[in-house]
Amino acid sequence: MIRDAELRARAEVVIPGGMWGHMNAQALPPSYPQFFKQASGVLIKDVDGNEYIDFICGFGPMILGYNDAEVEVAFESQRARLDATNGPAEVMVELAELLVETIPAADWAMFSKNGTDATTACVTIARAQTKCRKILVAKGAYHGAAPWCTPRPDGTTAEDRAHLISYTFNDVASLAAVCAQVGDDLAGILVSAFRHDARHDQEMPTLEFANAARALADQNNAALILDDVRAGFRINIGGSWEPLGVRPDLSAWSKALGNGHAIAAVTGNNRFRDAAQRVFVTGSFWCGAASMAAALATVQKLKRIDAISQMVRLGDMLRTGLQAQANEIGIGLRQTGPVQLPIMLFDDDADFAKGNLFTTTALRHGVYLHPWHNMFLSAAHTEDHIATALIATKHGLEAVSQQFSQKS
Ligand code: PMP
Repeated sequence: MIRDAELRARAEVVIPGGMWGHMNAQALPPSYPQFFKQASGVLIKDVDGNEYIDFICGFGPMILGYNDAEVEVAFESQRARLDATNGPAEVMVELAELLVETIPAADWAMFSKNGTDATTACVTIARAQTKCRKILVAKGAYHGAAPWCTPRPDGTTAEDRAHLISYTFNDVASLAAVCAQVGDDLAGILVSAFRHDARHDQEMPTLEFANAARALADQNNAALILDDVRAGFRINIGGSWEPLGVRPDLSAWSKALGNGHAIAAVTGNNRFRDAAQRVFVTGSFWCGAASMAAALATVQKLKRIDAISQMVRLGDMLRTGLQAQANEIGIGLRQTGPVQLPIMLFDDDADFAKGNLFTTTALRHGVYLHPWHNMFLSAAHTEDHIATALIATKHGLEAVSQQFSQKS
């Protein structure tokens, strides 16, 4: 990886630490590239020309395949006419209409750029509506990188999160207890679509928990806020808690919404319409019409091709095939959460040594997995991609078996 090493060295000089945030490849085993030069369909190519079948999908934004023709034509034709200017284009209204039609909990939509914009706006709207301060968040849940929610509080003040109180996901008693503790100052209960914390087994919300969150928000006149940034459009086209029959007051969306183009949305119901209108949330690029055209094309296509069913079918194939391999080789492997947002964690692997060996071996065989973060299927993955992935995972499991049975 000569070119990658060169770029890392140059980056080190002009970019603090060479890279920041969740895409910093220093968090991954050394054989993972930092820099890429091409992406098409489900294939990504690093700057040294190595090609991989991607199971990270840009950490979620890619859902129809990189450079999807339909989305790119929509994006390009809007961009050629008008993108970011003094006000939004017609497409903003069309996109809001499509989201309101698609998402049963939504009576309105507003747009921004990143997931953090959307979660932050949800919290702001909840506080503006309720005139209360406290926001309940699940311990360990990720909602973005703003001072109020960043998982690494270096550089923030205690006051930034003074009104954040944590509960345990799926634990009704803990949620009820913190609700009681905040009394009449509850602005909102923030929930993830499911428990998708890095380095942990994933957990779907129980119906009991979802119902309790809804009921506690109602009893306290507070907002139930669904952070659907990561899982949105992959579990259910109408919102990730639709299968549970529990509708949030406010939802945050981003990632898959524009198939890789920079767009986020807040959707909400009529109870929060006035507050959404009052709060001042904005950004120079939030009305970018080209990204909105991309989002319009993305959501239309996701619906038309029933993308979720495809992702579920292929995700299931990957999970079943991998589990059969692990069973045959005799390795304790845990695959949890929705098959279309898989995570693969090894038993007795606190330092992720097995996970690192597994994923670096797969990487050598042209399959880009993640050792400790949930992954993403897309509608562009095919049975052939899964078959190739399963060859790579077999090599990965064999490497783990060899190395770790020798040690024990
Ligand atoms: N919420 C969740 C659940 C996320 O997964 C993310 C991004 N990983 C965010 C919020 C923040 O989104 P962004 O990085 O686009 O600001």
